[in-house]
Amino acid sequence: MTIACDRVWRNARLATLDPTLPGLGVIEKGLIAAKDGRLRYVGPDNNANFDGPESIDCEGRWITPGLVDCHTHLVYGGNRADEFEKRLDGVSYEEIARSGGGILSTMRATRAASEAELVEASLPRLDRLLAEGVTTVEIKSGYGLSLDGELKLLRAARALGDCRPVTVSTTLLAAHAVPPEYRANPDAYVGLICDTIIPAAVRLADAVDGFCETIAFSTAQIERVFTSAKAHGLPIKLHAEQLSNQGGAALAARHGAWSADHLEYLDQEGARALQKAGTVAVLLPGAFYFTRETTAPPVALLRQLGIPIALATDCNPGTSPLTSPLLVMNMAATLFRMTVTECLIGFTRAGARALGRSGEIGSLEVGKNCDLAIWEIDQPADLVYRMGFNPLVARVWRGQ
Ligand SMILES: [Zn+2]
Repeated sequence: MTIACDRVWRNARLATLDPTLPGLGVIEKGLIAAKDGRLRYVGPDNNANFDGPESIDCEGRWITPGLVDCHTHLVYGGNRADEFEKRLDGVSYEEIARSGGGILSTMRATRAASEAELVEASLPRLDRLLAEGVTTVEIKSGYGLSLDGELKLLRAARALGDCRPVTVSTTLLAAHAVPPEYRANPDAYVGLICDTIIPAAVRLADAVDGFCETIAFSTAQIERVFTSAKAHGLPIKLHAEQLSNQGGAALAARHGAWSADHLEYLDQEGARALQKAGTVAVLLPGAFYFTRETTAPPVALLRQLGIPIALATDCNPGTSPLTSPLLVMNMAATLFRMTVTECLIGFTRAGARALGRSGEIGSLEVGKNCDLAIWEIDQPADLVYRMGFNPLVARVWRGQ
């Protein structure tokens, strides 16, 4: 049989993450062929003929699907390192908040920056992700907290996808915090989100997210946001059960959310709701680590219920200034006791599912995008085991 293709990668060890195969779906002595940016063949390096391709000898290196970072706040203005230093010097969170720190300082810096300035400030962060094999990244708004500010963030996120060979999924997170103009009337801000911002963001956002927490929005307010999102044909996600159990996960599941994220305080009832709805649990060990949280998400329960678990960097200036997916995998293993297989699934096919992109990315299967990460490692566990070590040899996005 002759297979027409543009390019083949021979002599590779494949961790396909194909869900029909056990574990990581390993194929020793594997071969990948791509045509027009898609996978045309994934399997043993047999005697099939590949018509007129460019052939790359991988010399026994490992190939995984390109990594999917399914939860980031990558685009923002300013920096909170000064605040971090003040906290270490003994200044209280309340004092910092009173002097204009916290999320509102990021909001002010973000509002003051132009779209081009936001792109320029965010590119180095994006490049760190790409350097560790990321081929798809989700980017949330949520530091504009006004119509213009949120749209500017979504445009900047889309622009990043034009600057680099990477797929960008954009998420509207206007329901991240109540902006100061609405402090006396948060419900009016929710009204602005539902009636003005969501309709205006339909062509710029791939999904709508919210932060359900005592310090952010109630389940009733989030329900209004979800109702508007669905009326405008936008899928939903939710920051849920990060600091306390508000029933956010069950709410998200009831609305058919793609994912519920954080979940440190998820209970049985919430977990069963996620299971029933097929909602992905996105765990963010970077934020857990940075905020010195002590309650870990119920990984054993998620595992027992067969809920897909994704991992992400949660790259953001306040609680997870992190741009290393490999370090996140190590944290998930050490802090949450996730297995090597679970960590790799978390950054590939579960991440893809959390973005509603299971059909196109997340595993090496014929028909999906040819997004690859090629690693100089002895075994997949090396990706999870080592800290501050980046064995990426090459990254392929849509066959290039
Ligand atoms: Zn987040």
